[in-house]
Amino acid sequence: MTYKLSSWSLNDLFPGVNSPELEMAFKDLETQVSSFEKLRPQLQADLPISSFLEIVKDSEETTRLAYKLYSFASLAFAADTQNQNVVALLGRIQQFMAEMQNRVLFFSLWWKNVDEPNARRLMDAAGDYRYYLEEIRHFKPHTLSEAEEKVVNLKNVTGSDALITLYDAITNRYVFTVEVDGQKKELTRGQLNIYIRGADPVLRAKAYQELYRVFGNDGPVLGQMYQTAARDWRNENIALRKFSAPIAARNLGNDIPDQAVDALLKVCEQNSTVFQRYFRLKAKHLNIPRLRRYDIYAPLARSSKSFDFNQAADMVLESFTSFHPEFGKLARRVFDANHLDSEVRKGKQDGAFCASVTPEMTPWVKLNYQGRADDVATMAHELGHAIHSMLASHHSVFTYHSSLPLAETASTFGEMMLVDRLLAEEKDASVRRDMLFRQVDDAYATIMRQAYFALFEKQAHEMVAQNASVDEIAAMYLENLKKQFGDAVELSDEFKWEWVSIPHIYHTPFYVYAYAFGQLLVFSLYKQYKAEGESFKPRYVKILSAGGSEAPEKILGEAGIDICSEKFWQGGFDVISGLVDQLEKM
Ligand SMILES: [Zn+2]
Repeated sequence: MTYKLSSWSLNDLFPGVNSPELEMAFKDLETQVSSFEKLRPQLQADLPISSFLEIVKDSEETTRLAYKLYSFASLAFAADTQNQNVVALLGRIQQFMAEMQNRVLFFSLWWKNVDEPNARRLMDAAGDYRYYLEEIRHFKPHTLSEAEEKVVNLKNVTGSDALITLYDAITNRYVFTVEVDGQKKELTRGQLNIYIRGADPVLRAKAYQELYRVFGNDGPVLGQMYQTAARDWRNENIALRKFSAPIAARNLGNDIPDQAVDALLKVCEQNSTVFQRYFRLKAKHLNIPRLRRYDIYAPLARSSKSFDFNQAADMVLESFTSFHPEFGKLARRVFDANHLDSEVRKGKQDGAFCASVTPEMTPWVKLNYQGRADDVATMAHELGHAIHSMLASHHSVFTYHSSLPLAETASTFGEMMLVDRLLAEEKDASVRRDMLFRQVDDAYATIMRQAYFALFEKQAHEMVAQNASVDEIAAMYLENLKKQFGDAVELSDEFKWEWVSIPHIYHTPFYVYAYAFGQLLVFSLYKQYKAEGESFKPRYVKILSAGGSEAPEKILGEAGIDICSEKFWQGGFDVISGLVDQLEKM
């Protein structure tokens, strides 16, 4: 079998943007929602198990159709961002879905309020739906009366939500001016990023200085917005909903115990020297005495070796097959179903992703394959995602998607297997070096950087409660960076404004640690695999097959992993440390 660069087919979803089948789906969804609304009188805490399961099944059917519609539009958009029909369809679907969601909201509101004995009775009989139902009820102890909840919702629209929308509106219109080759250029943040990650050290510094000049100019206002957002978070989650700490509200959403997050962040702090060692090494490779903060994302790739698409597909499929024949078979399904869009095309969206639509459908994978070693690793990464959801395809629509902290498990693991194989087989030292650098660069960006953001957020939320000024928070941020980088990186003063430029900490407080959690988890698992070999595999398959049908702590606990133990997280850093060792020897 020879694999060629191609676009994908969306026929398994709908035949086309203007097809009658697509119009029919809108109508069907509307009909299903209408009949779901008619079930409302049946919603009594003591309803029979059979009626309850009927209702959940109905809502699963509707969700399945909604996923298909939404996925069709967003996949078609990714494949051709310039197609006006697709853009219009996407807008129509977003509006339509919001309306449908509001109409079925009553179910989860009711379910949260069912008394404990009846909820137990229904959940015990719910089979695969159990964890989904349980999760909705997690927030019950922190839920206010209906009237209070309505006031919170209503006031959020013009309060905290509006504040964040204003933050976006202000920061998204910033224009950055940088002189390139003697010419002044006006750039968006996205365009500025190209220079921040570019090869020219002078431009890198200029781009960063301009970024924080612009954000710093508005620093007092943006900082005040952050203070307000943090105060709102505290008022709502601590004073009203009685969470024990600001971060605890997020932990419950992720269904991760507070102790696990504490252990994770503590171990990250203790291991800051691992990346400091890496940054010293990176400085050497860039021929400079000390890395500046500007140089963190400086590109190092030197090899020009190229892999043609079929060769890459063979390597990736073989790597999966040699780990487990089933993995190879599942990955091949994505190719054979014509669900892979691999070629680079004008108008096609950048980057790569894997989209799992419903359990019974083979996932769709988007790549922009250009033949670099990097692209081969990305192929393994995205196919890893696809394998993960296909292994969990026996679960319901509600429980087959893995939860956020486990979402990057199969992808990163697949990528590591491939890199290991290439490192063993590749004769060209510069290709091996490029791959290792890529791995450690990614590990820094997803683990250490995010963990220090979370540490900053914890401290900032406390400081705001103590009425700290914006300047005091900015000074604390600079201290946070100094701890992270030690003397391995030269830090200039303007980085004290970096925090006001991070949308995540405004939009979704404490979201960022989930990235560190996921990535470090995979490194730890990989370490176990290297130590144990064959006996590790069934445990690993079990973790993936669970999808999102259980709490992360339970899924991992059954595989003998204690996420509350510092020792487990340290195992992840031992792997990164080993990668840096290998690079130092090269
Ligand atoms: Zn991924």
